[in-house]
Amino acid sequence: MSMQQLIVENTPFAHLLQASAEHHSHVCPRQVIGVRMGQYAGQLLGLQVPQAGKRLFTFIETDGCMLDGVVAGTGCTVGRRTMHIYDFGKMAASFVDRETEQAVRIAPNPQARESCPQYAPDAADHWHAYVYAYQVMPVDRLLVAQLIHLTVSMEAIISRKKARAVCDCCGEEIFNDREVVANGTVLCRACAGQAYYAARQTVAVDALPGLLCVEPR
Ligand SMILES: [Zn+2]
Ligand SMILES: [Zn+2]
Repeated sequence: MSMQQLIVENTPFAHLLQASAEHHSHVCPRQVIGVRMGQYAGQLLGLQVPQAGKRLFTFIETDGCMLDGVVAGTGCTVGRRTMHIYDFGKMAASFVDRETEQAVRIAPNPQARESCPQYAPDAADHWHAYVYAYQVMPVDRLLVAQLIHLTVSMEAIISRKKARAVCDCCGEEIFNDREVVANGTVLCRACAGQAYYAARQTVAVDALPGLLCVEPR
């Protein structure tokens, strides 16, 4: 079945799912959930989505397919700094109106999966049933929303414009107040012991034939 055939034409978000699917290179159930989550967030917070500006901010609790749907549904992106990932591996996201500070967390309705056959009785298999049913079932059958307040600081996450420091250890620049300061020493998180990588060896860059050949075999 083609991408086009998997998208239900007469929903108000079909064009968003189409855009998401093109970017994501396939249609899938989690993307449908993501688009609908974003649209629902806009409806609950009374905001126009997908947004052109930066008023809506999304905290998303997983990466992958759902994230691409939420991006299409809200206009929030990591690159525009209107989305932040807390990778809890959960199909959920919280949406914050930065003007009113109202926030809502949206997750799948625990009964959504089992109610799919009711909305897609002719589906060839479970996967096709999910893709179709998630597009057509009423939003409150698909998703649950709860009002929340944040326990993290939006100001700290967004940081100050032009905030910039230099690591006293590696000399690299640090943006957005992400440095660690201890005893008057400014360190990047890597030099402060939070690195996710370790250098394999010290090699003078001009001795390398090309950046793609950094790792000797
Ligand atoms: Zn996918
Ligand atoms: Zn450093």
